Amino acid sequence: MSERTPRAKMTPAPRRLLARVRDLMAGTGTAEQRLDEIAEIVAADLVAEVCSIYVRRAGDILELFATRGLKPSAVHNTRLRVGEGIVGEIAALARPFALADAQEHPSFAYRPETGEEAFHSMMGVPILRSGRVIGVMAVQNRTRRNYNEEEVESLQTVAMVLAELVAGGELIDPHELLPADGLASAPLRLEGLRLNGGIGIGQAIVHRPHFRIERLVAEDPDVELERLQTAFVEMHGAIDDMMTSEHMKASGEHRDIMETYSMIARDQGWIKRMEEAIKAGLTAEAAVQRVLDDLRARMAQVNDPYLRERVHDFEDLAFRLLQHLLGEPSGPDLSKLEDGAVLIAKSLGPAQLLDYDADHLTGVILEEGSPTAHVAIIARALDIPVIGRIKGVMDRVSEGDPIIVDGDRAQVFLRPGDDIRRSFLDTIRVHKERKEYYNELIPLPSDTKDSQHVTLLANAGLLVDVEHMRDLGAEGIGLFRTEIQFMMRTELPGIDDQTELYRRILETADGRHVTFRTLDVGSDKTLPYIESDEEENPSMGWRAIRVGLDRPMLLRRQMRAMVRAAKQCETDISIMFPMVTEIEEFVAARKLLDREIESEAPDRKINAGAMLEVPGLLFQMEQLLEEVDFLSVGSNDLMQFLFATDRGNPRLSDRYDTLSPAALRMLKTVADACNDANVPVTVCGEMAGRPLEAMALVGLGYRRLSMANPSIGPVKEMTRSLNVKDLQGFVAPLLGSSEHSLRGKLRSFALDHGVAV
Ligand code: PEP
Ligand code: MG
Repeated sequence: MSERTPRAKMTPAPRRLLARVRDLMAGTGTAEQRLDEIAEIVAADLVAEVCSIYVRRAGDILELFATRGLKPSAVHNTRLRVGEGIVGEIAALARPFALADAQEHPSFAYRPETGEEAFHSMMGVPILRSGRVIGVMAVQNRTRRNYNEEEVESLQTVAMVLAELVAGGELIDPHELLPADGLASAPLRLEGLRLNGGIGIGQAIVHRPHFRIERLVAEDPDVELERLQTAFVEMHGAIDDMMTSEHMKASGEHRDIMETYSMIARDQGWIKRMEEAIKAGLTAEAAVQRVLDDLRARMAQVNDPYLRERVHDFEDLAFRLLQHLLGEPSGPDLSKLEDGAVLIAKSLGPAQLLDYDADHLTGVILEEGSPTAHVAIIARALDIPVIGRIKGVMDRVSEGDPIIVDGDRAQVFLRPGDDIRRSFLDTIRVHKERKEYYNELIPLPSDTKDSQHVTLLANAGLLVDVEHMRDLGAEGIGLFRTEIQFMMRTELPGIDDQTELYRRILETADGRHVTFRTLDVGSDKTLPYIESDEEENPSMGWRAIRVGLDRPMLLRRQMRAMVRAAKQCETDISIMFPMVTEIEEFVAARKLLDREIESEAPDRKINAGAMLEVPGLLFQMEQLLEEVDFLSVGSNDLMQFLFATDRGNPRLSDRYDTLSPAALRMLKTVADACNDANVPVTVCGEMAGRPLEAMALVGLGYRRLSMANPSIGPVKEMTRSLNVKDLQGFVAPLLGSSEHSLRGKLRSFALDHGVAV
């Protein structure tokens, strides 16, 4: 070879190979044909007598899918376990091998059907996707050949492009692509906490801001090197800014962590490997991704937990680099998934869930979460099964893994086998039948067996909930959470927008009564356009009516829009205020409402009510009931404050029971006071939608329950099978009990009396 030129200029071979592979990938023909052609091209380009492509199948099997040079009859017949033979070893260790004499290697496994005894040297690389080995690509030569680093690089780069073909679903069912990190290479069953019932089957979508890398092959490596360098400079600048920011000034662990992070960002080895990947023909973004995939696969083999953790730093940094290279990430296109999508996240805010296309979401799995967290409530409204508190699920699942979410039994099946899948398909069928049964109940009254009418209302936050409410035969909307609409926008909706929205809600409700709740923001529901301070205890902080009274124009404009909508639709409405803590707050809010009523002069009744969510009000019930037109028990918040238990804290979510004697006695006091004062009272917290809890509430004297739409059928089935008199006689003496919970006793009552819970 003649003089040495700079490396990027000197090695056009890998780039040329990559460009040919790219053209082939974009061409016509079946996936199998393309695989054969790739084997052909690679063998020719690397001057190898053999090029073989193995694809990983269910059960950790590597199956020969294409070969140039081995006996064609071996295709689909030669199968190796991960860890078996050199090919299996490459998959198990997720790293390349370059062996001048493969037959002398201790892992060599002779397979007579391939005719490979004639070949001495071998170079193989894992085919990686999202850090997982999904196949192996290997070349072989008759002679004892020493493959060089560049050749290994070339093969790795082709393998990256090939990964798209393997994972594309044409060669094998993507369900078969198993993880390679050794933690979860088999189907897994995980248990969590039920946040919403129902069953969903789908493919995993991991909630990490996600980049779609469309350009893999570089047109001009020099341009890509420059792009990478610019991205690095920008990223280092941003990290330096972070280090000098106000809250980094003080020393402490957070500063140490950031310093390490900043050092990792300047890791020369990492940078060099990306540059090499570009020189081998990848774009800057594909190079970042490839080096990260490689690193993830290597780190998965490391036992030291500290070192394993470092991969998260690199992931974070790679993400930042990609941000500098590609701009803001785009979300996955859920509509492309055949089975629908199961969203996996550490935790999610309600607006984040709404960012995904709900039509294609078949389930949600969270590492954290509790039943009354707002994300769970929204998922319930959308009828999406949700399981929370599955620790480490983000690490055990990768994009596209098949998953079953069994919300009813709070279990998740990762990469389930066919038998499990079939049995869940059966369960889904049974669910459908139940739904059909609930549909039959729609025209029937929700009266109990002893002719007590129980009004069933729906909780809503989206227009679609109001449509469902009507279709399900509920009598109206007992709680319209107006903040959901605000959370879906990037700026505060104007008065006309709000009027139009409320008008559409009333129109859709089609004569059924609607109770609007004024904005309940703060806590886990923050609005990007309303400034708020970091609070240590946001659920006890500046939220709900507290915000409304401090920002009276915000509240007044909202109420004006509601009153106008009522006027336009010629209908009565109810407006209630969240988190009322003392009577004066209600009085002040009502005064503001009265001013709007006065100026809009609707000739319809606008009722004003308070939500009972703060225990302090319990001690002023008599006075409160003189002021309000109605009361609504927000049991989610009321219980969190009664038990001093954060409703969003997964560790505490099942520690205290809403069916404990204390909670039930409190609820009875409220029901009695309202019934005595003739003030309508509704329970609109989540407990009203659970048949057993709803039964208890009816036993305590409540006759109005408001719940998420999917609960209406089951709760109606309960009321129609209940004899209230029997229940009242049973519940009254229990309230003096000192047990942790009355749940078991209430369930026995239901069983003994044929009440459907
Ligand atoms: C409640 O607290 O019970 C309630 C209905 O309000 P939210 O869940 O929206 O806080
Ligand atoms: Mg509340």
